[in-house]
Amino acid sequence: MSDVAPQTNTIHDAIIVGGGPAGASCAIWLKRLGFAPLLIETAGALGGLARVNPFQDDWTPLVQGETGHEIAGRIARGVVDAGVAMRLQSAVSAVERRGRTFEVTVRDAQGVTQILHAHTVVIASGVTARGLDGAGPTPVPGILVGPGSDVADRDYRGLRVAILGGGDNAFENYTFVRERDPAVVHLYARHVRAQQQWIDRTRPEDVRIGAYDVDINARRVNGLPYDLLLVFYGWVPQVPYAEGLGLVRDARGFVRTARETAETSVEGIYAIGEVAHRMHPCVVTSLADGVVAAKAIQARLEPRP
Ligand SMILES: Cc1cc2nc3c(=O)[nH]c(=O)nc-3n(C[C@H](O)[C@H](O)[C@H](O)COP(=O)(O)OP(=O)(O)OC[C@H]3O[C@@H](n4cnc5c(N)ncnc54)[C@H](O)[C@@H]3O)c2cc1C
Repeated sequence: MSDVAPQTNTIHDAIIVGGGPAGASCAIWLKRLGFAPLLIETAGALGGLARVNPFQDDWTPLVQGETGHEIAGRIARGVVDAGVAMRLQSAVSAVERRGRTFEVTVRDAQGVTQILHAHTVVIASGVTARGLDGAGPTPVPGILVGPGSDVADRDYRGLRVAILGGGDNAFENYTFVRERDPAVVHLYARHVRAQQQWIDRTRPEDVRIGAYDVDINARRVNGLPYDLLLVFYGWVPQVPYAEGLGLVRDARGFVRTARETAETSVEGIYAIGEVAHRMHPCVVTSLADGVVAAKAIQARLEPRP
């Protein structure tokens, strides 16, 4: 059963969908520029993918020696310190244009749906890990999709593990597993796209490059049996709630934006961070994207004479 909460007359300057680094940064900047943004996050805490990164983040130069999870905590504190209005455990399920404003449908953890209104909407809902073809949306025992705490928290001792994928995540997690005493760890990559620093840490005898066959139910790769398959097939953008807007996307589904403003093909709708894949995806580029959108929204809402 879903309840419907009464509508409010408030028109937010911006509703920001997603409280990862991109959305959080945009919200902080808008608030500090004097606007009234509302940040909506479906999880119970801010930080997005950084929150599920248990590894040390050596790529964010302003912070040394902290994990992604700890950096996510800093981002969340920044949002609170700025006094940004937010709703956690609330998912945006639709965005529609209504004249000169937007109607945003939000459903909270209790199943209560509410319609909110905004002058602008910022899509900052990030990406989700791409699964194995045919694996279906439900988790398959023995198959882990994408990096994060599920992979980091496992005990690999004595297990036969296959890593599938040819990017940084596949190679980084190969090293992670290999250091945890598995019986074997093999990496299968159709093509290698990883940075050389990760490739250099692999044992050549563990790596199979080229086409390979996966039997999901038997957990076999090229006929070899494994206890665990770890799948790192990249990422897909999460924007189902914006389908009705007809946003222009690229061939992989990422939302296309104007370089200088992060505005999408729909006036008043901005897309930042990984969902738009505007720059190499990481915490600092996502934070930077948030600034770009905030400044563009400022220019829209405060037009110069
Ligand atoms: C294991 C791992 C390790 C990483 N290591 C590093 C690293 O060391 N250094 C680095 O710089 N980067 C690292 N990254 C990448 C970095 O975390 C991402 O680039 C960054 O978090 C992207 O930010 P974002 O805001 O675009 O998206 P996300 O972080 O994905 O945030 C999007 C948010 O939107 C929310 N959301 C989605 N749909 C809805 C909806 N309908 N309604 C409301 N909310 C919604 C999601 O719950 C999520 O919180 C790592 C990522 C992973 C997974």
